Amino acid sequence: MTRTVYVNGEYLPETEATISIFDRGFLMADAVYEVTSVLGGKLIDFEGHAVRLKRSLDELDMAEPCTKDELLDIHRKLVEVNDIDEGLIYLQVTRGSDGDRDFVFPSADTKPTIVLFTQNKPGLADSPAAQKGAKVISIEDIRWGRRDIKTVQLLYPSMGKMMAKAAGADDAWMIEDGYVTEGTSNNAYIVKYGKIITRPLSNDILHGITRKAVLRLAEEAQMEIEERLFTIDEAKDADEAFTTSASAFVMPVVEIDGAQLGNGTPGTIAKRLREIYLDESLKAAI
Ligand code: PMP
Repeated sequence: MTRTVYVNGEYLPETEATISIFDRGFLMADAVYEVTSVLGGKLIDFEGHAVRLKRSLDELDMAEPCTKDELLDIHRKLVEVNDIDEGLIYLQVTRGSDGDRDFVFPSADTKPTIVLFTQNKPGLADSPAAQKGAKVISIEDIRWGRRDIKTVQLLYPSMGKMMAKAAGADDAWMIEDGYVTEGTSNNAYIVKYGKIITRPLSNDILHGITRKAVLRLAEEAQMEIEERLFTIDEAKDADEAFTTSASAFVMPVVEIDGAQLGNGTPGTIAKRLREIYLDESLKAAI
């Protein structure tokens, strides 16, 4: 099926949507993005994604392409016309193009480029991968120093996924100065003696929208949380582990660098958090 996508004010068949070859998103990875999940035809935590998008744009001195309300309308229209029940909406904003390649930013009146498209993912919530749990490997974190800004510089995370695949695993956790930063496209957690341990927010990791929601729900459920650095050895010795992201929600991790966690099946806390997160998100979906 040909999707209808959104490009700079127009809804078009995906085959007819174009942007300039001089677009700075293409030439310089001068672009930010968001991925919002759709469950039951409704948007999960749209507000969180809109707020983070604004923050990413502000940090890069990039213009807002439209208002939050317009953004919500575009999301909803794409869900409707593409008949998405479960899936994802990808949104990208770039600094646009002034018709040439230059390291210097184009003038402030250059229009940003905005692109949105849907990805249909039936069975997203009821994922067999989550029932099995993920295997991860560890790799050095060699990304740039502003991982809190959600830019499209995804080459290294993409290579990390390929390294994981080559090692027979599902994903990679990245390590800097001996401590786990995050997964290639998710935030990382371990659980020891019932306590959830995760790296505190800083420029070193993306401030996950799902992380924020899951930590709030864990606190409400009287679970113990400690935000601190942890090493990969500590992770391998944990009782359980998991990741969070808008596209996979709470994903249990059952193996790290070949070391099995617990009995090698998803842990109780990860499973419980996935359940609570999906329930609560569905209730709050718009
Ligand atoms: N860290 C990284 C590096 C990511 O790419 C993502 C997903 N975009 C996350 C964490 C999780 O963020 P969110 O919960 O907002 O999807």
